[in-house]
Amino acid sequence: MIRTEVVIAGSGPGGATLAYELAGKGISVVLVEKGAWHKWPLGNITSFGTITRLMLSKQKGSMFYGVTAGGSSVIFDGSAYDPPPWMKTELGIDLSAEVLETRKETGVSSFPEMFSDKWEGTKRLARAAAEMGINLVPQEKFIDFDKCDPECDDCMLGCKSGARWTARTYIEKAVSMGADLRLKTEVKRVIIENGKAKGLFVKGPNGVEEIRADKVVVAAGGFGTPKILMASGLENAGQGFFIDPMTNVMGIGREAGTRNEQTFAYASEDFIESDGFLIGTSGAFLTYMGVLGLGGIRTIKGLLKLPGYNRIMGMFTKISDDTGGRIHPDGRVDKPYSETDEKKFKKGTEVCSDILIRAGADPSSLTVVKNVGGHPGGTSAIGRVVDSDLQVYGVKDLYVCDGSVFPRSPGRPPTLTIISLAKYLSKFI
Ligand SMILES: Cc1cc2nc3c(=O)[nH]c(=O)nc-3n(C[C@H](O)[C@H](O)[C@H](O)COP(=O)(O)OP(=O)(O)OC[C@H]3O[C@@H](n4cnc5c(N)ncnc54)[C@H](O)[C@@H]3O)c2cc1C
Repeated sequence: MIRTEVVIAGSGPGGATLAYELAGKGISVVLVEKGAWHKWPLGNITSFGTITRLMLSKQKGSMFYGVTAGGSSVIFDGSAYDPPPWMKTELGIDLSAEVLETRKETGVSSFPEMFSDKWEGTKRLARAAAEMGINLVPQEKFIDFDKCDPECDDCMLGCKSGARWTARTYIEKAVSMGADLRLKTEVKRVIIENGKAKGLFVKGPNGVEEIRADKVVVAAGGFGTPKILMASGLENAGQGFFIDPMTNVMGIGREAGTRNEQTFAYASEDFIESDGFLIGTSGAFLTYMGVLGLGGIRTIKGLLKLPGYNRIMGMFTKISDDTGGRIHPDGRVDKPYSETDEKKFKKGTEVCSDILIRAGADPSSLTVVKNVGGHPGGTSAIGRVVDSDLQVYGVKDLYVCDGSVFPRSPGRPPTLTIISLAKYLSKFI
């Protein structure tokens, strides 16, 4: 049996940041991660295949997430967005100090204008959007632009140049300050005795073990955390599931498209509050891969588009979907889309199509691909499963610290908020 002050399940942005903050205060921490420290060369399909899991809902929606040291941050696109205003106004969680600290530590900055000089397709899309009164502008990123190659669009395959921040930075710092990192170790359940969390049951290279701790934090992400909580007898976890799904629209024009241009480099927040979606530009490779799909009709239709590859332009719509889904204790996922979700998909897709056509895409070339989500949350919501101190209702010293605590979709990429929440929790845990 192992003993520690704090044990954390999961090493994504939530778990890694918390481990770093607590280790920095001299607190003994064990950080338990199901995945390995994958060392395949990042930035290619092989590494993506090793690290990434694809989950299909009963309704055939697809979702991606990372199972590796650093969690989904190893394959994320690096877009940085401040917390939604309602974190403070409705939940009373003011993260302003933590957001400033995170921005400074991780080096969040905006795409330099010079960086995008060669991006003909993206700039044409931005000009077309401006003619329609839409601000399609360079985004803030967790990227060190001095190390980044403007013609590389591989962020979501894992960054090969080390320009994009990942939560592994915080894991390394935590370990250098004494945290005990246990890789390839799966948390099975929380040990709860007399209404108090006492540790974790884990299965790793040494078999089944108990890690006893004064405080237990579950940070296994929107999919992993509810499974652990449900296996520990907390039946109200797993509901209220959202994923921020996307549609991608591909258009083919007469001029150069978004080949070798970065995905989500330019985006528009104009529709977040009014319509519940975000739109942005998408590189030709990822757009085409989406259209090509995993087989069947989509593959045949996609292959017919190949001759136009250099002239492909891509745009995406990411909606904040309703909290209508659920994760079941056996890991099955239900994720139906509501009428409101479908309206958001429809309007976002229409806006993207109009921009593409105005930027020169042939209307008959437009192809829409629906449904990929990558921001799982809602399954351990604040106000339902945890309180605003992120402590699980009814279980002393059990906390949740990851994307699953959002009570609804934040409507924008969540990583900056998750890191800030971990810093916030570290102050009083
Ligand atoms: C393709 C893609 C692109 C994205 N792009 C962006 C973006 O541009 N900007 C942005 O802000 N966000 C983006 N995201 C979302 C972002 O990556 C996630 O929201 C974020 O990583 C969630 O952090 P987390 O700590 O909640 O969980 P995760 O990152 O999911 O980490 C959870 C960790 O727990 C581990 N785990 C799970 N179950 C167990 C268990 N039983 N025992 C032990 N360990 C376990 C997992 O292996 C994982 O390492 C993207 C996501 C994807 C998939």
